Amino acid sequence: MNIVLEDPMKDRYILFEIKQIPILLVAEKLGIQIRGRKAMCFRGHDKLTPSLSFMPSKNIWKCFGCGQGGDVINLVMQALDCDFKVALEWFKQNYLLYTTDYKDNYNKKNSRNNYEGKSLVTRIVAPEESDKEKAFYSDPEIYDWVINECSSVKNALGLKYLSDHGISSDNATHFGVREMRSPSNLLSKMKQQWGLERVYRSGLAWGENGFPERLIWTSYSVLFPFIHDGKVVYIQGRLFEGNSKYLNPRGISKPIFNLQRLNSLKVGSTIHICEGITDAIAIESLGLASVAVLGASSFREEWLDLFMRYDIVILPDGDSGGEIFFETISKMFKKRCKAVYRVSLPLGKDVSDLIAEMKRRRTRGTFNR
Ligand SMILES: [Zn+2]
Repeated sequence: MNIVLEDPMKDRYILFEIKQIPILLVAEKLGIQIRGRKAMCFRGHDKLTPSLSFMPSKNIWKCFGCGQGGDVINLVMQALDCDFKVALEWFKQNYLLYTTDYKDNYNKKNSRNNYEGKSLVTRIVAPEESDKEKAFYSDPEIYDWVINECSSVKNALGLKYLSDHGISSDNATHFGVREMRSPSNLLSKMKQQWGLERVYRSGLAWGENGFPERLIWTSYSVLFPFIHDGKVVYIQGRLFEGNSKYLNPRGISKPIFNLQRLNSLKVGSTIHICEGITDAIAIESLGLASVAVLGASSFREEWLDLFMRYDIVILPDGDSGGEIFFETISKMFKKRCKAVYRVSLPLGKDVSDLIAEMKRRRTRGTFNR
């Protein structure tokens, strides 16, 4: 079956997904022997020194011998000497991609029992449950625009929230944290810039049938962008009024916060997995690597591969939800024979509480000197 579907939205999904697959993994799967970030060119012109070079941060490659280069799709086309269509087919064979027949593929692959170890997908957009949910998709262009449109946190409410969670202004700026002051202003600008349909489908607005009525963040909020390979793929808002504290884009499955941290993490390093965004930022502010998984149920089996090469420390919140979080995720790793460490937190505390407390004490200490 052809991977290029009739639906242009689906095509965008698939290409977007493919381009997220780390280039070194694609090269590995193609059988290219990588040394560091270099390899002998598959065209055979290298005799002594490798001239094929990979840039994981941009997810591109370049051969300084023959001048070829490009993204992951170009790599497959050049290495297999095939056209675009065949290259897409290759990705479909080797990775689980978001297609209408996703579930069939998944079942087939599982029943052949070759799913494990075969597929490593940094899938941003998951298969959705119902038709209603299919109305929404992660739209990095709009999310990126929103983050640029909003300013860094200056309001006292937002600043207090950050410092209560152990996050300085510098930490916040580093992670692109923003504040959203006027929902109606932002929504009308968004509609002007991107059109009703696209704003609606980005999951950032309430409303029905493609018509965005109100922004999901209905009052002043602090916005946390999820950045993968330089693109904003998701935004969580922290509200301070109304019933919901956290509001996420509608109908879009939650990616890992700070996932791109893994790109710069050496094999064998320690990665800290916690439950909240502020926890991850607070841990990072101590110079440690951390990602946040927003709820155990959002942790996907295909993400395991991303962590296998690191020492894993899980820091669940000190409550019953934290217990479930640890149990669920540690079991998933156990199935893959991967041990994880756990840091137990005092009852009712999360990581950022403790780090904030520690920083306050440290500050007081400095004043006393
Ligand atoms: Zn070459």
